[in-house]
Amino acid sequence: MSAVISPIQDRLAKAGVAGVTIAWADNNGIPRSRTVPLAALPDAVQRGVGITPLFAVFDSHDGITFAHDSLSTPSGDIRLVPDADLVTALAGQPGFAWAPGRQVGPDGEPWPYDQRTRLDAQVARAAAAGLSLRAGFELEFFVSQAGDEPAAAQQGPAYSPHALLQVDEFAAAVLRDLAANGVPVGQLHAEYGLSQLEVSLAPADPVTAADRQLLARQTIHAAARARGLRVSFAPLVTLEGVGNGLHLHVSVSRGGGNLLAVNGAGLPGGDGARFLGGLLRDLPAIAAVSAPSVPSLLRRRPGYFAGAYQFWGVENREAPLRYVPASAFIGTDRANVELKASDASGNPYLALTAVLAAGLAGIDDNAELPPPVQEDPGAWSSEQRTERAIPALPVTPEGQERALLDSKRIGDALGEPLLGAFTAVRRADAAWAAEHSPEETVASHRWRY
Ligand code: GLU
Ligand code: MG
Repeated sequence: MSAVISPIQDRLAKAGVAGVTIAWADNNGIPRSRTVPLAALPDAVQRGVGITPLFAVFDSHDGITFAHDSLSTPSGDIRLVPDADLVTALAGQPGFAWAPGRQVGPDGEPWPYDQRTRLDAQVARAAAAGLSLRAGFELEFFVSQAGDEPAAAQQGPAYSPHALLQVDEFAAAVLRDLAANGVPVGQLHAEYGLSQLEVSLAPADPVTAADRQLLARQTIHAAARARGLRVSFAPLVTLEGVGNGLHLHVSVSRGGGNLLAVNGAGLPGGDGARFLGGLLRDLPAIAAVSAPSVPSLLRRRPGYFAGAYQFWGVENREAPLRYVPASAFIGTDRANVELKASDASGNPYLALTAVLAAGLAGIDDNAELPPPVQEDPGAWSSEQRTERAIPALPVTPEGQERALLDSKRIGDALGEPLLGAFTAVRRADAAWAAEHSPEETVASHRWRY
């Protein structure tokens, strides 16, 4: 037994913790978990708990696809190991603690399908180049009355304190519990969509940002349940409504200097421009990872701030890549880029893996950054878009798969095994959606995130 664990166990026992939930996110962004009794925590930290390798080929409907060659039988076992340093007694779930898990092989060696390990590799690649990254997710979600059918818990107005008042105790619990669970928040507001709220998480290193995205969702679900509410982080809650984005903000720095800080012209220059150029170049493949589900594709409509075309802009909220410049007043280190083509069906570790891989490759090979677009290309004619070379991002599973497989950079970052499993899962989802209406597909994803 590891001696270092006992102070953690003591602390958790004093907090009344009975079980530790070890969580990860699958290739659909769906959190999965195993819970061990507190007494079994040292053992879990030392040798992990057994899980099936087939979680890599679970689709969005809890179906298992056997179409990926290396995981095509029901046999095998891997280990899920909690990160002992990150075990958190949950403020909103007395009796439970939470920890992100890492999937390793039976020999304890890295498992090629582990999403968190893929992100580690990109973080290490950045560090080797003298670069460090910060990231933070914004979480949009629908607040419903409890029950199977979505029923708005607040009626707006959008962005109004009067809207928040209708879910007052819940909103307060969200802030209180996130703080207690060690998830720093930037701000909270009633968003534009019907009964939609948004919580933005403070920036952190990439792995921490992804861990916190999962912990924040768990915390918000628990706060809702305790107040007779239910939340949905699904890309779409209804087919017609405004979608839920989990926008991803990223910045990159060298030696403490933010490379995305503005140059004289109010734009990023040098390696910051190359980083952004890399993101723009690989955007269709990034989106195939960060917003990969069928509802993600249905959410991708012009005019909804969901990023429908392949372009970037300065503070352009219709752009899938919104450059957020800073100033001396705001703090020059705050400059960042926001990826809007990101939602809860994107595994947060993989979304960041794709973003880092694309941005770092942009620096490595001098990716070009065209001038920003400040309008909404969705309002242009298709001739105008062709003339300006601004294509639509894929909105079909086939187009999305092609975009992913076309980018060797993103494929290499995922690694061949994970790319194969991921693609098989997307095909299984697409086959399900082909047999159902868009309304049924949206409904089937509604309560899964
Ligand atoms: N709800 C929009 C989405 O689907 C985004 C709105 C915003 O820009 O905050 O991503
Ligand atoms: Mg928003």
